[in-house]
Amino acid sequence: MEAQRTVRRPISCVGIGLHSGNKVNLSLKPAAPDHGIRFRRTDLGNFEVPATVSNLAGIQLATGLSRDQVSVETVEHLLSALVSLGIDNVIIELNSPEVPIMDGSAAPFVYLIQEAGVKRQQKSRRFLKIVRPIALSRGDKRIAIYPSDHFKVTYSVSYDHPLLRHQSRTLLITEESFIEEIAPARTFTFLKDVEMLRQNGLALGGSLENAVVLGETGVLNNALRFEDEFVRHKILDAVGDLALVGYPVIGHLVAHRAGHALHTEFAAKILEETSAWRLIEDGLELAVPGAVPVSVKGIATF
Ligand SMILES: [Zn+2]
Repeated sequence: MEAQRTVRRPISCVGIGLHSGNKVNLSLKPAAPDHGIRFRRTDLGNFEVPATVSNLAGIQLATGLSRDQVSVETVEHLLSALVSLGIDNVIIELNSPEVPIMDGSAAPFVYLIQEAGVKRQQKSRRFLKIVRPIALSRGDKRIAIYPSDHFKVTYSVSYDHPLLRHQSRTLLITEESFIEEIAPARTFTFLKDVEMLRQNGLALGGSLENAVVLGETGVLNNALRFEDEFVRHKILDAVGDLALVGYPVIGHLVAHRAGHALHTEFAAKILEETSAWRLIEDGLELAVPGAVPVSVKGIATF
């Protein structure tokens, strides 16, 4: 059995919200099997917002959730770290609407999860296995997922900037490859956009400490963490947004010039296209979400 997992013990950190610039306390706490990943606003009577596509809110520069007008913003880097380290069930407490930006990557969240430790639970994990391709495009932005025996991501970006004409990467996502190759990649922005964001009251907490900033010919930061840090960060974002499906996905995600809006619209589309995937538990197929398989000599019957 591949067991569900939660964090071994509660753990906390403090950071700032990218857009508000306010200080935020974040805690991860163990949760029961089948609980899923849920945010909890401690400043609003512990109101909970589950990390699912049904709670998707306005998506612009980051991915936001809301339920009954209670919102949680910039969830994608934390979700990316949680699902890649195999955490199925966790309570994420916040005393503010924004997940702290930390250094703009998922590495601080990986560290937080590793410090808390991971605990296997007495219940099998369910996977969503893609059996037929699903695709979505909006103008020149494209995203699709294909059947595969593993969770793989291929991402390509191209911008009107000398450093970013074209970057592309394919990676099999495992806990190890995520920690080494993806988690440290920071979010990025263009200097010309920073002033516009500030005028709109956004990115007030943004700085060279938590984003790679691209000037006209190069980056304003001292150094990149990877030569292709940009496309790696896009993979990080896509993994986090896909977490809103609610199950670990087995398939090959291929995206070109996509962003949070398309990633999250696609996560919702995957769930709608019920004939294109199967839920798998202990290697057996479940008939419908929530059904329990009956095994006869290793063959699932219903
Ligand atoms: Zn990001």
